[in-house]
Amino acid sequence: MGATARFNALATVSARQARTTITEHHNQSDLWGSETFGMPEAKALLPKDVYQKLQGTVVSGRALDPSIAPAVAHAMKEWALSKGATHFTHWFQPMSGVTAEKHDAFLSYDGEGGVIERFSAKELVQSEPDASSFPSGGLRATFEARGYTAWDPGTPAFMASGANGKTLTIPSIFVGYNGECLDQKTPMLRSLRALNDAAVSVLHALGDNKTSSVMCNVGPEQEYFLIDKAFCDLRPDLMATGRTVLGAPPPKGQELEDQYFGSVPQRVLAVMREAEKRLVSLGVPVKTRHNEVAPHQFETAPIFEPANRASDHNLMTMEVFAKVALDHGFVFLTHEKPFAGVNGSGKHNNWSMATNNGENLLEPGDTPLKNLRFLVFLLATLRAVHRHNGLLRAAVASAGNDHRLGANEAPPAIMSAFVGDELSDVLDRLEKGKGGSRESDAAIDVGVHTLPKVARDNTDRNRTSPFAFTGNKFEFRAVGSSMNIGVANTVLNTIVAESLDWIAERILAERKSKKDLNAAIGTVLRRTIKEVKPVIFNGDNYSAEWHAEAKKRGLSNDKDTPSALKHFVSPAARKLFRDYKVLTETELQSRHHIWLERYAKTVDIEANVLTEMVKTGVIPAAAQQLHRYAQTAGALQATKGLDGAAAQAMLDMTNQVGAALGALKENLKKLEDIHHQADGVSDVEKHAEAFCAKVIPAMRAVRKEADALEQLVDDALWPFPKYREMLFHM
Ligand code: ADP
Ligand code: MG
Repeated sequence: MGATARFNALATVSARQARTTITEHHNQSDLWGSETFGMPEAKALLPKDVYQKLQGTVVSGRALDPSIAPAVAHAMKEWALSKGATHFTHWFQPMSGVTAEKHDAFLSYDGEGGVIERFSAKELVQSEPDASSFPSGGLRATFEARGYTAWDPGTPAFMASGANGKTLTIPSIFVGYNGECLDQKTPMLRSLRALNDAAVSVLHALGDNKTSSVMCNVGPEQEYFLIDKAFCDLRPDLMATGRTVLGAPPPKGQELEDQYFGSVPQRVLAVMREAEKRLVSLGVPVKTRHNEVAPHQFETAPIFEPANRASDHNLMTMEVFAKVALDHGFVFLTHEKPFAGVNGSGKHNNWSMATNNGENLLEPGDTPLKNLRFLVFLLATLRAVHRHNGLLRAAVASAGNDHRLGANEAPPAIMSAFVGDELSDVLDRLEKGKGGSRESDAAIDVGVHTLPKVARDNTDRNRTSPFAFTGNKFEFRAVGSSMNIGVANTVLNTIVAESLDWIAERILAERKSKKDLNAAIGTVLRRTIKEVKPVIFNGDNYSAEWHAEAKKRGLSNDKDTPSALKHFVSPAARKLFRDYKVLTETELQSRHHIWLERYAKTVDIEANVLTEMVKTGVIPAAAQQLHRYAQTAGALQATKGLDGAAAQAMLDMTNQVGAALGALKENLKKLEDIHHQADGVSDVEKHAEAFCAKVIPAMRAVRKEADALEQLVDDALWPFPKYREMLFHM
């Protein structure tokens, strides 16, 4: 057997052609949202007063007025039936990290022995999936086993369709009987409310009485790999964990940098096009696509949207791409580090705040007042990152992301902020009270009469910063590619809300002694700049000097998930989440528990799959190789008249393979022992730590010998598709 399956896979891949599924041309604007029950559909199908109430709900993010639910449900059903749907589902985001859905038919008895299509208000608004098998971190046990999904009108309902029918899909939150959150979405909605409240109060303190609400906008850039399914089918590690747990480096990797922004291969373009077409019809504003740095790595990015919808849409993007990719013979990998030695994938989370009048609060303005406002929001964000840098690291903690943070494609585990030299200079001058302009208006007091319009290419040059100001938004680059961006944004919104409140309070306090508003703001800003300075870093985040300097500045540097997650339950974090009503103490503890468990389980599965691949693939291949060399050596030694060099060469090879095999077996035994011990640890924190500190290094030692053997054993004996094949054939 040996490599037969591998060679068959290679032949399959070589024979594949780009699959062109889109034959008709449609303008994007014609397709846009055609598979959603959005506001235009609602307007067409609902009485005017109902439509207006629904619109109010969507804009404000408040709960749906129960009196309009029957009419909305009816309209939604009419729309869904006209599209050919047979079922509906509440679509939600349990803590297991993926989305969940349970379908119900629009089917009801009509009371006369027949059936009719029905969809009640209750079915639209709430549903009760059997929730006992979703992780709750012990939360549900303390309440009761039921969970409820409730419609969140912030994202329009949409039609999930495929070859096997259509399902009306209703974006929902998932909560327990007493409203305790069991999902990733509920805390983000709460954090958006907190951010809104705090931002509006600070605007009031700045004298703005026109703004009634502030929202958060997010544009997530999604990186991913496409690897041929024929190869993945022969890689138990990719199938079970999304990453390769062994594999020797290819002779050529990404060092020639010939992939980034290169022309997109036809087979991949076919996937992109079909996925984008579906996404546009689902109302997801996909805009950008390109090759990424690693071979077979790509990116898709939407136009930014309100955070809640952006987060749902990112999940839809991942789902649609995964489905379409499979149809085209690819596996869509969002693991943060599928292949050692080449770049991993992240999800740059572009984040900003905007008023209900559409003004971006992180945009430097052209009037002194707008500049002051900009500085307040900028500094509040910087203060938040400074105060809670450990918590921000915790928000992106996962077994997968640990492989990526600090490698050469991603920021390190130290959360600092980049603002660029120009803006740093403005802050310096402001701190020292130096005027930036000679004009005689009050803004001179705080030195911000003119702010440089921060040029994009100036801000974007630093690619090593985890949290970079890029002209009119912050780009949080530490988010992992497989993550639900809800978690990072929940943390970000909440910590910024806290600092906005802090600034608002200080300004109001200063006003008691200072008549002049700008002078009061200036005093507060100066104090804030002093406080946040340690988190600003414009240099190379990879350098050893920075790591030493960051330590001096008191920034945390948690290299792994178990240590990063501690920040979630620190006294400061607990107070923060409690005060802002984002997570109760119990909700927070249960989340912490779930994340630790998830970490341990992930590494556990990786260790299982590595052990199996070594025992059933690597060792048998090496043993055959050993047998051949030993036999050949024996035969050569027995052959009279040879000068001995050939026999010696075969003996040398026998020894080389034998030594690597011996070391592999020894390391495997250690891994099995350590893994067994880690499995037995019952305390959830120590359990995760054992996997982190013991199992992962033991896996690394096994991999080293297995990869050495891959480079010694006859190619025709090696059972697993190699890096050079998976990453360079399509
Ligand atoms: P890149 O960072 O790759 O150069 P861009 O900065 O143009 O690309 O955009 C990256 C993402 O940031 C896109 O999703 C874009 O819509 C989003 N974005 C742009 N402006 C904002 C903003 N004010 N708030 C949030 N996201 C934004
Ligand atoms: Mg970017």
